[in-house]
Amino acid sequence: MEIFNVTKNIVVANTSNIGSNIVCVNTTDGLIFVDTGLIVEEVKKFRQDMEKKFGKKTISLILTHAHQDHIFGMKSFFDVPIIATQKCKEKIKERLATDFAGDGIRKILNNYSEFKEYFANMGISEDEIAEVVNQTDIVVEIPQKDFTKELAIGTKENKIIITISGGHSLDSATVYLPSEKVLITGDEFYHSQVPLLAGAPESHENWLKALKSWEKLDVDIVIPGHGSPIDFEYVTNARKFVEKTFKIVRELKEKNVKVDEVIKDKRLKEYYGKSNWKDPSWWKESLKALYQIL
Ligand SMILES: [Zn+2]
Repeated sequence: MEIFNVTKNIVVANTSNIGSNIVCVNTTDGLIFVDTGLIVEEVKKFRQDMEKKFGKKTISLILTHAHQDHIFGMKSFFDVPIIATQKCKEKIKERLATDFAGDGIRKILNNYSEFKEYFANMGISEDEIAEVVNQTDIVVEIPQKDFTKELAIGTKENKIIITISGGHSLDSATVYLPSEKVLITGDEFYHSQVPLLAGAPESHENWLKALKSWEKLDVDIVIPGHGSPIDFEYVTNARKFVEKTFKIVRELKEKNVKVDEVIKDKRLKEYYGKSNWKDPSWWKESLKALYQIL
């Protein structure tokens, strides 16, 4: 388990490189966690460690969106209220009736072994994959508390603002902690990976809107869905890169340049940060999706 001490009151854990970051926020009322990663036992341990460190109980769990790498550890929080956007709640309900139903979760876990090459490109070992696949205790439940646009929780000194941003997926939310000057982005933002334009094509504009709205906040540190916490400057560079990408793709499309040529344009490869992602196929797919909607 990799731990990042972000501020006096915020600790981030990465329990598996396949799963999401897990954030612990220490408030005067108790501990609030954001996302759970993929591994039930590991997130349970992180929660216990944090309760010991801060000498407080856990009071709630916030989910940024309904993707399995962020919610499969949720069993370790069934004793506290779970909070999510209304869209995330609906998505989980829908998944419980479809791909999570019956032996669906087992099949999803088994699927991870099918992507060894893909994960190898991300620097993830076979042992790490096996740790995820071999789990038998994953349970998903519908969040009890939801909101449509924005929800503020906590006290005046420890205000936590959760906002729907809908970029990475239409149910995605970001979490802002003004007193800590920290923004938790879920998968709206990654670090050291190819710039993310994935997600539903209709949400690309939402994503850019979200990046712009963050620049109006007072943020020093950004905690991405995956990868280490980063300075806000990185986000500004990302926003500029994304705007440039939209502009270039739009211009080329207007000139009737075919999509296969567009993805070869050198200007679209000058990323805003270092990429440790050796497989560029996702970026190409993102550009293709963008080309279709612009
Ligand atoms: Zn994720």
